Order: sequence, then structure tokens, then C-alpha cells
Amino acid sequence: MRHINLIICHCSATRVTRDFSPEALEACHKARGFTTTGYHYYITKDGHLHKCRPEDMIGAHARRYNAHSIGVCYEGGLDANGKPADTRTPAQKQTLITLLRALKADYPDAQILGHRDLPWVCKACPCFDARAEYNHLKPLTLEQ
Ligand SMILES: [Zn+2]
Repeated sequence: MRHINLIICHCSATRVTRDFSPEALEACHKARGFTTTGYHYYITKDGHLHKCRPEDMIGAHARRYNAHSIGVCYEGGLDANGKPADTRTPAQKQTLITLLRALKADYPDAQILGHRDLPWVCKACPCFDARAEYNHLKPLTLEQ
């Protein structure tokens, strides 16, 4: 199994007013030369969790940090005018919390942060403060 020390949150950088399906995402990433979607998980606006690649497969979402990380992406991140914005729907937020807590249970040493929190990243992704919001989440346990 890979050693995971980072769980990195992303946005798809698509306008909240348009739909960007998992199929469209996959086609986009394949066009960039990836074997499949670069993220491990993709959460659409309806809150549905799409598994994109297995966790033991190295992702393609954060240069220099792929080997030891899991990539999680939500659909959106741009407002209707194409400006970076936190466009997470309540359903996406709920799914994100559940997913991140499950990942925390599997990888207790992993830090949760946003793509923009990595050094040398000069983009807004994921357009919210993932570290402040999620890094202190409690791992999901079987009793809950
Ligand atoms: Zn990103």
C-alpha cells in the first residue's frame, strides 16, 4: 500500500452554472495524457461521490505531491462569471465531510489541505480554506 501523508482538495475549475460530468472530466484528463481521471474522487453538485481511480494508484493532480497523496475534487469552483468562488453545494459539503473522515480513518497521519496550500501553487484551487475547515475532522468510526 502507498504511504499517504496528504489528502489534497481540488475544484474542477468549472462554472457553477454548467455541468461537468465525471465523463467530461475523464475525457479532459485523457486529452492531457493521463490514463484516466487524475483525482481519486470526484463529487458532483448533487453530492454524488464518483470513484475515479483506486487509492493505491498514484494520482495526477498535484505535481511533486502525487506519490504520497489522495486527490479529491468537487465540481465547480468558479462563479457564473468565471471568477474563483467557493461554489460547494450543501450536498457536496456533506459528501466531502463523510469522505474526508473515512480517509482520515484509513490514513491517520495524513494532513488535509487544499491544492493552493502546497508550495509553488499559484492558483485559487479549491477556492476555500480546506486546511482550516477539514484538517481537524475526526476519523469516521464504525459506531457512527
Ligand atoms: Zn487543484
